[in-house]
Amino acid sequence: MNSSRYRGRFAPSPTGLLHAGSLCTAVGSYLEARARGGEWLLRMENLDPPREVAGAADAILRTLDAYGFEWDGEVVYQSRRHELYRQALEQLIASGHAYPCNCTRKEIAKTARRGLDGYVYPGHCRRRRPEEGGRAWRLRAAPGDTVVADRLQGPYRQNLTADIGDFVLLRADGFWAYQLAVVVDDAEQGVNDVVRGADLLVSTPRQVVVQQALGVATPGYCHLPVLVNAAGEKLSKQTLAPAVAAEDAVAALRLALSRLGHVPPEECGSLAELWQWARAHWSLARVPVGPVLAG
Ligand code: GLU
Ligand code: ZN
Repeated sequence: MNSSRYRGRFAPSPTGLLHAGSLCTAVGSYLEARARGGEWLLRMENLDPPREVAGAADAILRTLDAYGFEWDGEVVYQSRRHELYRQALEQLIASGHAYPCNCTRKEIAKTARRGLDGYVYPGHCRRRRPEEGGRAWRLRAAPGDTVVADRLQGPYRQNLTADIGDFVLLRADGFWAYQLAVVVDDAEQGVNDVVRGADLLVSTPRQVVVQQALGVATPGYCHLPVLVNAAGEKLSKQTLAPAVAAEDAVAALRLALSRLGHVPPEECGSLAELWQWARAHWSLARVPVGPVLAG
């Protein structure tokens, strides 16, 4: 992290409502920011209209508000920032980091092997020149190991070439890839520390190489444990995790804090008391590293 004031963020995707897992992430990133006297920004990652649920963005904001979160500045919507992503892609093309690709999923599946996050792109279009164009654009994966120093999970190492392959920046369907947008936004918003769910650790080396290719700073990283159900699956829309309700804020916040290793005393009976206690006692040293069972 650089020497300027701490700036963190919470960046939900409005593909569903807040559930116990995303609430934990919000609580952890908020408390880390406040405990360090920093700012906490809110960014709506609504770059994937086919997966977006109507009304979810507003519902997430209402829930956060009902739970007593106080964010700094205006909420940023990725859907209004296409121009920034386009400029970044142009820079990456000009510097030789990005190349066009016309391979279909089917073609890739024929020859590719599976890596850490789907198929490892076999590199078919690597020599394609920018002026030839393509529906998708990929970043050349950096050779060698990319290491992320995570404050909670410890050092995390990935060989991008072997484990991930050249990855997509602009998708063939015309939508921006999360890996590009998140880097552009964190840099543009001056975010110098990222606290989020451990399911995104696998993405972090990709984001670090995009940062290096764009010449922007790498923020600090801290990946919080994910909540899992009895079957060991991450709570998510796909695993039908129920939304957290505004009416249950006190109980749900208490539970979220407990899952993050901070069990509030019985006397804390209101949201204000819970937050006050949590801000005074927050310490990453108490947060469990591994998946937490949401039983
Ligand atoms: N929008 C992403 C999600 O909800 C989080 C992105 C991030 O925190 O970097 O999974
Ligand atoms: Zn290709």
